[in-house]
Amino acid sequence: MQHVAVLGATGSIGTSALDVIARHPDRLHVSALAAGSNVEALVALCARHRPDDAVIADDTLYPALRDGLAAAGLQTRAHAGMAALDDVARAPGIDTVIAAVVGAAGLDSSLAAAGAGKRLLLANKEALVLAGELMIDAAREAGASIVPIDSEHNAIFQCLHGQAAGSGVRRIALTASGGPFRGRSSTELAQVTPALAVAHPKWSMGPKISVDSATLMNKGLELIEAHHLFGLPGERLDVLVHPQSLVHSLVEFIDGSVLAQLGLPDMRTALAVGLGWPERLASGVGALDLLAQGRLDFEPPDIDAFPCLRLARESLEAGGTAPAILNAANEVAVSAFLQGRIGFLSIPALVEHTLAAFPASPADSLDTLRETDAAARRHAGSAISTGVVA
Ligand code: NAD
Ligand code: MG
Repeated sequence: MQHVAVLGATGSIGTSALDVIARHPDRLHVSALAAGSNVEALVALCARHRPDDAVIADDTLYPALRDGLAAAGLQTRAHAGMAALDDVARAPGIDTVIAAVVGAAGLDSSLAAAGAGKRLLLANKEALVLAGELMIDAAREAGASIVPIDSEHNAIFQCLHGQAAGSGVRRIALTASGGPFRGRSSTELAQVTPALAVAHPKWSMGPKISVDSATLMNKGLELIEAHHLFGLPGERLDVLVHPQSLVHSLVEFIDGSVLAQLGLPDMRTALAVGLGWPERLASGVGALDLLAQGRLDFEPPDIDAFPCLRLARESLEAGGTAPAILNAANEVAVSAFLQGRIGFLSIPALVEHTLAAFPASPADSLDTLRETDAAARRHAGSAISTGVVA
């Protein structure tokens, strides 16, 4: 029996993960569930999946969680606070950690799981963007296996049979749907609203990654993620816009072979790969009918209309603390955009403004990265409140 902890259980990835796990009661057991602040949803998931432990990250909500579990007649132990998430991620009774917290808030628990040698199903791409070297080193030292839960990186993982890229790989191409605003000019983008930005044409996802997909920052974060996971430099990582979102990425080998993974756009496939690897598990995802789909189109990304992709590439090339600054400024910008405080085009403007304020320096320790993250957030926050970027 594989004992699984789902961190970010109430979110889009968490929900998909629990759907796959519930299909395999003979081999998968939900041992712990964690969420940010939605106690009611967490208690409902506990009633359904009967974990041993439940964690709410907001520690003021401990009494609500404890009382909610008791009122539901559950034996599940209640915990609260961010440190309790890390404890669950490294608990000896847990084999597999699904890291599906959104944003840099997921770094510590993802790092704890890697450092404790778990099988880490890593959806929290921001942890890799922020502290990729530390994450990969921690996993290597502790013997943790990381399975990426991002459709593109999961596709590459499958094409490489779970191995590092090695000398046989020439290039990797990440596919991108292009998001809801593919084909629009920057002038047209000035007017888009949060409601339009979160309405993704192909994937159903949480609000932050939906906005990242609309700005193409998501693909930029994924370039950095791919660099750390597969060890290739930025110049051997391409982005290919593929509006149908059926080819999830491609690996080109030195002998001219190109391997790709295809499937319907549903994260349960990637989660089933992570839970079962190297075996295959049923995921509930239907078969891909290429005749019914008809076409597969590809086009280059429009870097002028979507400068976030350029900014992410530049941060990858600069290295050191640059990706941490990019990520922090982007989190602040996306949150302000979702609250209606800044416009869509202010997202790349704020990221660029913040990157310009902090020259990249070596990312030699977790403390350096944490301080950089906090300083970049302060800088971006004050640029919004003083109207430097509106
Ligand atoms: P979501 O917003 O739907 O869910 C986020 C989850 O994180 C929720 O359970 C929330 O309670 C929890 N959370 C938020 N803040 C927290 C905190 N401070 N401490 C602990 N938990 C906290 O997001 P999502 O779309 O499921 O995305 C989760 C992660 O997976 C992101 O990093 C995203 O980039 C990545 N990802 C998502 C998809 C997708 O299809 N949704 C695809 C690829 C990668
Ligand atoms: Mg992706």
